Amino acid sequence: MQIITTKQELQAVVQACKTKKRTIGLVPTMGALHEGHASLVRRAVNENNVCFVSVFVNPTQFNNKEDLAKYPRNIVRDAELLETIGADFVFAPTPEEMYSEEELNTTFAFDFGGLDQVMEGKMRPGHFNGVVQVVSRLFYLVQPDKAYFGEKDYQQLAIIHHMVERSSMAGTFGNLQIIGCPIVREDSGLALSSRNERLSAAEKQTALEISKTLFESLKWAKEKGATVAAVQQRVIDTINAVDGLEVEYYEIVDQITLLPTETFDHAIGCVTVYCGPVRLIDNIKY
Ligand code: AMP
Repeated sequence: MQIITTKQELQAVVQACKTKKRTIGLVPTMGALHEGHASLVRRAVNENNVCFVSVFVNPTQFNNKEDLAKYPRNIVRDAELLETIGADFVFAPTPEEMYSEEELNTTFAFDFGGLDQVMEGKMRPGHFNGVVQVVSRLFYLVQPDKAYFGEKDYQQLAIIHHMVERSSMAGTFGNLQIIGCPIVREDSGLALSSRNERLSAAEKQTALEISKTLFESLKWAKEKGATVAAVQQRVIDTINAVDGLEVEYYEIVDQITLLPTETFDHAIGCVTVYCGPVRLIDNIKY
């Protein structure tokens, strides 16, 4: 496995793969890797000739400086894990390598057809512009055949699908396929997240109530006369009743449009909860 830190080196390696007609899989990450990331990388290794993993804490998608500063980083451990899974190349640039000064300090606005106006987009203004800024740059540099994203960040996946569909009309990313991968959870149900590293043992125990409530709500949705609004509120009330948890939003929306829905068909519930100072997200399909 080779670790690359410059765009120039990356493009040379990509070019060599293209010349040899190797198919390329890409897994973009922000590092502090866990089994959730590993599941994406394993799939990319299995389904492509060559697997690239990017490890880059992208500053332009953080609208909270403290969150950015406290984001866990451990490139040595990440590289060890990626090596054991069989990744071929790790791209780990600095922000200055990735962006010009102007790019680092300018807010880019992309049109996501409204997908960014709800939930995470509403709570973290500019977040998805930063995500698309870095992901489109990675697509441009790595020219993958397939790129892998987790359903844990469901809205992000929907927005990237949207971006690639629009760009494919323009031929920007060739025949790039976006592959959504299921959420990996601990046996307890807690969705794996790099941010879990910031939880104390007690907070981690408390955080279990989030996934527990989401799974429970699948049963509530099947109760006679259950409405989306009532189930949504019950989830919020149940989580908020736990000491140490505070719901930022819970929305049951259509899986494609991400707009509020009145039926449970093709619905997904997306939640953001503060567990102490740590912001956790999770979701469940009905
Ligand atoms: P991140 O490093 O948090 O930006 O995540 C990189 C990729 O891994 C994203 O596509 C995430 O959706 C995905 N991911 C993170 N956590 C999980 C998980 N628990 N299960 C599946 N995919 C995940």
